[in-house]
Amino acid sequence: MDTVERLAHAFERLPGIGPRQAKRFVYHLLAASPSDRTLFAKLIGALNNDVQQCSECYKFWSGSGEMCGYCSDNLRDDGLLMLVEKDQDIIAIERTNGYRGRYFVLGGVLTLSGRGSVRERELIHILELRLKRGLKEIVLALSATSEGEHTTDYVRKILTPYRNRVRITTLGRGLATGNELEYADAQTLSSALMNRKES
Ligand SMILES: [Zn+2]
Repeated sequence: MDTVERLAHAFERLPGIGPRQAKRFVYHLLAASPSDRTLFAKLIGALNNDVQQCSECYKFWSGSGEMCGYCSDNLRDDGLLMLVEKDQDIIAIERTNGYRGRYFVLGGVLTLSGRGSVRERELIHILELRLKRGLKEIVLALSATSEGEHTTDYVRKILTPYRNRVRITTLGRGLATGNELEYADAQTLSSALMNRKES
């Protein structure tokens, strides 16, 4: 296999990219200047050293220290912990300017056919830690998709032993069925946050 084919195969591993689009990326890069290609390769390589996973919320971030900006910010509310599927969901929630609590990234969803996984062990560890710091409410903020709902049910079960110590809520209606949280607009998310309900 030559380099063009190998790179095209590498692009095909990215989400939502088919063989034709993968090839288009490669030819686009071939038409670009050598310095553009070098920069592209360098940035991908830099992900190894410059980006790390936060030890508390498991979000990817670049900087020094163990914790990301959200986890190390003393002004954020330790009484609230929001569970989201992925890093991009945090960006969507932050855009609402309506949430000042902490986060935990589950790292995926469970499909109805039983595939996928969430950070279960890590979640329990962080919960114990956060309970000591005054955690009062866990907000389950997953997508309004069938996988999101299935995952919410699963996480709710994991949280059963904590029910007498914390309130468990989900986002209120507003998110249209089938909508991924990442793509919801700020106003919709904002009202879903304000109207969260016992779960
Ligand atoms: Zn963090």
